[in-house]
Amino acid sequence: MAGDLQFSWELGGAGWATCRIADGGSEHRVHVGYCTDALADLLYAVTGLYGGTTEQRVSFDLEPVEMRWVLRRQELDVSIAVYWFPDGATSWGSSDETGGTLSWSSAQPRSVLGHKVVEAAETVLREHGEDGYLEKWVRHPFPVAALQDLRRLHRRDDGCRHERCRKDLEQ
Ligand SMILES: [Zn+2]
Repeated sequence: MAGDLQFSWELGGAGWATCRIADGGSEHRVHVGYCTDALADLLYAVTGLYGGTTEQRVSFDLEPVEMRWVLRRQELDVSIAVYWFPDGATSWGSSDETGGTLSWSSAQPRSVLGHKVVEAAETVLREHGEDGYLEKWVRHPFPVAALQDLRRLHRRDDGCRHERCRKDLEQ
């Protein structure tokens, strides 16, 4: 249900993170592997929903399964569809979901999705710092620039009513 979105990204042992997304109806939780720069890719995808683009995809490596988020924006709402692809069912990161299994979906205001993703990434940075992040994610540094970009666009374009986002705009 709109407005009930929860999202978290928690670093586990070396080379994986727990990605959890839930709304009022259901929850989706997976372990994402470090073969890709997954958190950065997610930030870029959500950032892409600000501006002209209406469709974004981001693929996560679940070793060997691919999990793909398809984000479609209509005006100021975003539909989120999460697909599973058994190994070999499709080419990695393609824009064809045939052969995939829809395992979670929701529709949310872009302002809520943007806010939750920024908040989750900020929590990761606050908990681990850039050094701690690199130690755990090993192959990729914390995506500082990607987080800054998304935070800036979210605060500029979403009219977010969260205290923290409002305060930053007034400064
Ligand atoms: Zn916000």
